Amino acid sequence: MHTTCNAFTKAGRPCKGKVLPGRPYCMSHDPEHADQRAKGQRKGGEARANARRAAKAWAAMGEQITPDQLPAILRACMISVKTGTLEPAQASAIASLAKTSVSITNQIEMEARLAALEAAAGISEGTRLRRVK
Ligand SMILES: [Zn+2]
Repeated sequence: MHTTCNAFTKAGRPCKGKVLPGRPYCMSHDPEHADQRAKGQRKGGEARANARRAAKAWAAMGEQITPDQLPAILRACMISVKTGTLEPAQASAIASLAKTSVSITNQIEMEARLAALEAAAGISEGTRLRRVK
């Protein structure tokens, strides 16, 4: 009894796929499973199109995001990954950018606060204490 598929690959070589029980072809070549395969491919295509649309939406949104919105956005991101409308790698990139954004925002805020303190203490660029080595 044949255990390997009777079909040929696109390259013209005999398929090495394991036959389905009682069938002469593997899952990829069995004509009886063509509908199922087409359905699977359609689903894959839809998921990719959804991911592309979501990525576009996220990119457009990025221009208007304020730091206080980041936690809600990251939560939405997690849900999008869970529902399959955002690729985990894309969510990971968004999370990484959000982290960088928060870090830069904190740095800018600290510098502004330091400048305000220095101004209040009468410390100017010229009178700033030098670090002792
Ligand atoms: Zn096959």
